[in-house]
Amino acid sequence: MFKGFTLMGYRVTGSRCLTVCLGFTFIMGCFLASLPIVPSETVNPRISATTHKKRLAIIVPFRDRFEELLEFVPHMYTFLNKQNIPFHIFVVQQKDSNRFNRASLINVGYLFSKTNYDYIAMHDVDLLPINDNLRYDYPRNGPVHISSPETHPKYHYDTFIGGILLISNEHFEKVKGMSNNYWGWGLEDDEFYVRIKDAGLKISRPENITTGTENTFKHVHDKTYRKRDMRKCYNQREVTRRRDRVTGLHDVAYKIHNTHSVTVDTLPITVVNVELICNKTLTPWCVCPEPPKVKKAR
Ligand code: UDP
Ligand code: MN
Repeated sequence: MFKGFTLMGYRVTGSRCLTVCLGFTFIMGCFLASLPIVPSETVNPRISATTHKKRLAIIVPFRDRFEELLEFVPHMYTFLNKQNIPFHIFVVQQKDSNRFNRASLINVGYLFSKTNYDYIAMHDVDLLPINDNLRYDYPRNGPVHISSPETHPKYHYDTFIGGILLISNEHFEKVKGMSNNYWGWGLEDDEFYVRIKDAGLKISRPENITTGTENTFKHVHDKTYRKRDMRKCYNQREVTRRRDRVTGLHDVAYKIHNTHSVTVDTLPITVVNVELICNKTLTPWCVCPEPPKVKKAR
């Protein structure tokens, strides 16, 4: 049974209790209503704009590398959570029968993520950073090449910028994205190096890295199992040797078939299934003719 209670030294019971409670509620209501309405996120737009942490879209150009992906996703979550970087992984999967086009897939990944993210990491699925001093922070002052030639397990030339590169949306737009002419393995990263230089941007690399080519990254790549498509057909060799001043973000031809939000070991990623459309007049090497089968002599 309700027996009443004591308020500021007075004993309150029955109908008096109801009156006191209503009065108390009314006074509190008036007090709360008199407070200014300030939504927490708009306290000071100038401050919130500068303190907002930049968001990273990890763009993984992808086809037929499922085993590598299963290792990549948990690895990147563990690695980047230690750095407190807000990020999401976009696996941009090429779903057509043309030769693999890493640069066009990166262009598509960028267009897909740009409204919600501030910078991208173009990231090979088979290259796992293992030195915690490799920082994936916002590359404010120009592209940051994470997998430098001093530390990459395989590529050691000065102008190498493949593997893992961070670039802000602003700078990616400035260089007009990547060339769409590179079907098959190689050279698209070297062409991108020239774009960056032509735009007057400075590429930096991680400093204070004391590890080397053996222990900065794990490269999950068996060259027999995962063959590189090094074929050159039609006039591919001569065209792809030169700087491309025509193609880029503005003319990448593609259709997004569908997207899937999936998890790897409960960790969320987005798979974007992309059909790249090849202009066979401009880049006939998006499909190389099969060499004629030679009959074995009996
Ligand atoms: N890639 C892919 N499927 C392919 C070829 C390449 O997914 O058939 C992607 C994958 O992310 C890979 C990256 O492109 O890590 C670079 O290709 P690759 O590893 O062959 O180049 P490397 O740097 O080892 O010479
Ligand atoms: Mn590789």
